[in-house]
Amino acid sequence: MTPAALPANPPLFEVPSLGRRDARPGLSGVEPRDFAAWFAERGQPAYRARQVADQHWSGRVERFTDMRTLPEAVRLALDDAFRLQTLAETTVRPTDDGLTDKALHGLDDGRSVESVLMRYPARGPRRARATVCISSQAGCAVGCPFCATGELGFWRDLSAAEIVDQVRFWAARLARDGERVTNVVFMGMGEPLLNTDAVISAATALTDPRRFGLGARHVTISTSGVVPGIERLTELKPQWTLAVSLHAARAALRDVLVPLNRRWSVDRVVAAAAAYTAATGRRVTYEYVMIDGINDTPTDAADTAALLGGHLAHVNLIPMNPVAHTPWRPSGRDRIEAFAAILRGAGLATTVRRNRGIEIGAACGQLAAERAAEPTPDVVARRRDLLTRRTAAALRDRAPVAG
Ligand code: SF4
Repeated sequence: MTPAALPANPPLFEVPSLGRRDARPGLSGVEPRDFAAWFAERGQPAYRARQVADQHWSGRVERFTDMRTLPEAVRLALDDAFRLQTLAETTVRPTDDGLTDKALHGLDDGRSVESVLMRYPARGPRRARATVCISSQAGCAVGCPFCATGELGFWRDLSAAEIVDQVRFWAARLARDGERVTNVVFMGMGEPLLNTDAVISAATALTDPRRFGLGARHVTISTSGVVPGIERLTELKPQWTLAVSLHAARAALRDVLVPLNRRWSVDRVVAAAAAYTAATGRRVTYEYVMIDGINDTPTDAADTAALLGGHLAHVNLIPMNPVAHTPWRPSGRDRIEAFAAILRGAGLATTVRRNRGIEIGAACGQLAAERAAEPTPDVVARRRDLLTRRTAAALRDRAPVAG
């Protein structure tokens, strides 16, 4: 599906002028068989491809010219044909808890995408983890109104190499402290399953023991409900975790919160996710952003329990990250706990996530937005007004609830 086929999401921001794309593919996204074929076509021994790939994935070499074990002609030819690094420049901003770092990666065409590193210290028998949240697109066409990326609009898909290189960036930083990336979540900018080829290629590279080498169960692919993409994953039967951004069980409200719902209804999404579970044996995670007074009532909890009851599902409740151009605020702790209690009472595994700013795409896009020109106050006011009217219409048919 092309982004143009999605519900209109006019961007709030003007985007700075763009540079030219570099035509050379990034080596992180090149399939090993294609790389081997490149060497074979040049009459080079097969072991050369492995030699170069090993140096690349070790993260210790930044330029082909530093690969001294190769003849000079091969190094020059490699440099003409491929890039070892697709991220032009990166700035890192630590967040206040000292355990979370956000990066803004410049791309060759002047666009920017974000990734985030979250460290979880060891607790009891649980080992320390370092989770990287990565972007799959520059901007996003889906336009979830609580999301800063949704406000940017869609710019372009990332290549597999641009996706993988975000992880390699953090791996290199962690290696300096003797640490490593333990988990990767595709929950940054963009809808991963609207860029399915590149996302599958990137996840495959990240979990290939001869490339990045992460355990398959340590990769999570998130979607706001692209049914053909979920079906594609189901055919592959990977051990990756599938996460579905639910945010509302009722169609009228989900149409507002996740506009993709108008194309693939929530029932179809849950059915596709159940098929993924049946094919892989993997439990599906349902992400639910808690928005005060919008989707956090006991009725919403009961609707969610009814929708997911009987499925191998885990629900993750996340307080909304405030976004400047919406009138909404995160749900209070009491409302979230009451919501969680209803789900648990219905037998659903439920966690309440402390918001470290990036657990879902809600916070992603905020750094990139800072680089864009601010929208004028009347544009912001019109956006807020439209959102308020759409939400009011969606809430009208909600059954009255106590509390
Ligand atoms: S929440 Fe995800 S799918 Fe929705 S607009 Fe943001 S990045 Fe896109």
